[in-house]
Amino acid sequence: MQVQSPKNEQCSLNKQVKLAISSCLLGQEVRFDGGHKRNVFVQEALSQVAEFVPLCPEVAIGMGIPRESIRLVEDDDGEIKLLGTRSKQEWTAPMQRYAHEIAQWLEEQDICGFIFTKNSPSCGLFRVKIYNPKGSPSRRDGRGLFSEIITQHHPLLPVEEGGRLNDPALRDLFLTRVFAYKRAQSLLDMDSVSSLVQFHANEKLLLLAYNEPVLRELGRIVASAKQRPLQQVTKAYRELFLSAFNEVASLKRHANVLLRTIGHLKKITTAEEVASLHEAVEGYRTRKLPRSVPLSFIRHFGKMNDNEYIKQQTYLSPYPEELVELGWS
Ligand code: SF4
Repeated sequence: MQVQSPKNEQCSLNKQVKLAISSCLLGQEVRFDGGHKRNVFVQEALSQVAEFVPLCPEVAIGMGIPRESIRLVEDDDGEIKLLGTRSKQEWTAPMQRYAHEIAQWLEEQDICGFIFTKNSPSCGLFRVKIYNPKGSPSRRDGRGLFSEIITQHHPLLPVEEGGRLNDPALRDLFLTRVFAYKRAQSLLDMDSVSSLVQFHANEKLLLLAYNEPVLRELGRIVASAKQRPLQQVTKAYRELFLSAFNEVASLKRHANVLLRTIGHLKKITTAEEVASLHEAVEGYRTRKLPRSVPLSFIRHFGKMNDNEYIKQQTYLSPYPEELVELGWS
């Protein structure tokens, strides 16, 4: 089988990040029944800032549209196979081959994330059904064969299922991870310790919100950076940095970081301005306002007062404003 390089969905002009995605989430009619799984957030909002690389592994390995549905089946030896539901035709080897080729191809594509389709025996990420040889579901903790190989090959790459992006907290986390991953690419060819120091300074408040122990550990790496070859240091820093965003940051943590940020502005803003900032944080803490409100206040005062520390904090704009303006944040 000859694997064709996937074509990018949109031209890269004005796109800030490149994401691989299961084709059916973009509305492409590639599912086994000729249907799609169009995702509104992906198409209406994310498409404003992201260039997509759509992939349908089942079509790519020659299964055709429409086609017989397939499922993951665990045989008596514990081996998981991809089989036609009725015919029992086996697709395991072609899918594995294709997934390995794409995993390698993605290395050169500057991809910052991958969005998969849930429940699919090829693309599902979480809780995919696994059947026993008699045809009954035996467990629901599988991962699609294609997505399994991609995630093993790219363990640091942000991945998510399209359906889970409808949850505001999971969406916020995924977007934060994708754009952190993109910023962290600069660590790969960083040529001075001072650049690393600056990178770390800019990410401080974001790390404080998501993972304080990792923030401290990263601080230690930066403090001892001169004692080791820079490439070794930035590699270790990048891996640990990307592991920091492993779960949704609580409202309490965000509120604390917002208050700490206001502390940096106290000396340069009036008492009324500080009071309005506190009011916005309180509105957020009591769930009356989205986080974007205190964040935009802080950005505004940071800019007005030309406060470099505040202006450079990625916490204040962890991903593009367009997504916030479109009401998806
Ligand atoms: S879930 Fe994956 S394999 Fe199935 S139609 Fe969508 S892109 Fe293709």
